[in-house]
Amino acid sequence: MLIDSFGRTMRYLRVSVTDRCNLFCTYCRLATEEMLPNNRELLSFDEIIRLVRLFLELGIERIRLTGGEPLLRRNLVELVRALTALPGLQELTLTTNGLLLERFAADLRAAGLHRVNISLDTLNPDTFAAITQRASGSPVAHGERGGLAAVLAGIAAALRVGLRPVKLNMVVLRGINDQEIPAMVQFARQQGLLLRFIETMPVGAAGSAMAGQFMPADEILDRLTAQGDHVLLPIPTASGSGPARYFRIEGTEADVGVISARSRHFCDTCNRMRLTAKGNLVYCLGREDRLDLKSPLRNGADDAEMKTWIQEAVSLKPAGHTFAQQETHSHRMSALGG
Ligand code: SAM
Repeated sequence: MLIDSFGRTMRYLRVSVTDRCNLFCTYCRLATEEMLPNNRELLSFDEIIRLVRLFLELGIERIRLTGGEPLLRRNLVELVRALTALPGLQELTLTTNGLLLERFAADLRAAGLHRVNISLDTLNPDTFAAITQRASGSPVAHGERGGLAAVLAGIAAALRVGLRPVKLNMVVLRGINDQEIPAMVQFARQQGLLLRFIETMPVGAAGSAMAGQFMPADEILDRLTAQGDHVLLPIPTASGSGPARYFRIEGTEADVGVISARSRHFCDTCNRMRLTAKGNLVYCLGREDRLDLKSPLRNGADDAEMKTWIQEAVSLKPAGHTFAQQETHSHRMSALGG
């Protein structure tokens, strides 16, 4: 078991498989950041598989693959196949911007992936282009669909092949996409998606620039209820079930969620760790600290030694993050996987 100094048991690991991304969302990356090629600095698939096996042996139950954009990592389907074969894994999920999902959904499902979370902040092609800093019509690859259309096709593909429930993550930005909250709810209801609104976190290259765009979760929810158009009924969730709070839209079968890392943090039930693509274990999203697992891995540490390193990192996990006091954290969300 991985139990930290505050009695929290770790059950969830987010594994970033690449720092590269095919979008430059304003709240995440700078448009000037390059799309660096994958290289030897990245953990290889064998290294990821070995680390995940050790984490599972230590009590981690759920793994999420993320990035960067995870579907940019070559042969990701092979990694999914290998990970789902590991004993002890209860759930393998993927977070993606959806651009390449139409191409890979069926293979991912066949390889054993359980479900996907798709990030989509808008249904308006111009707003999509403005947020992602990517020309709205520019094709994903030669001869393919443009940005927003590709994501919508990715969502349809995920539903078609059964990567369900498909969760849709919308980062809400005041003055940019907040007026689309009701339209996103309607879209999610029509499609059968579980929509979650996400407060911006002061992380990443563009963090301080978007301070004025922050919208607290309660205000996001007010947007749905203010006009009397929706009544939201809180759904009780088991502690440790994750950072989202969920609500049933009265009179419907649809739920919405809200993730409020800032206005109402959930550190006391945090059960997660993050492995970066370069092999650092990050034990709190709101802190710079991390433990290098790649060096011992490449210097020949055996399984017992690697487990000691992992346990060491867990013991360093702080009680909580400091988003409220500190405005921007310099580390990049695209390197942490969200
Ligand atoms: N490329 C994949 C994607 O788009 O889902 C996976 C990586 S992305 C970093 C994971 C999630 O982090 C996305 O839902 C993204 O919207 C969110 N994210 C990135 N920067 C954020 C920020 N500053 N505040 C809140 N969420 C952020």
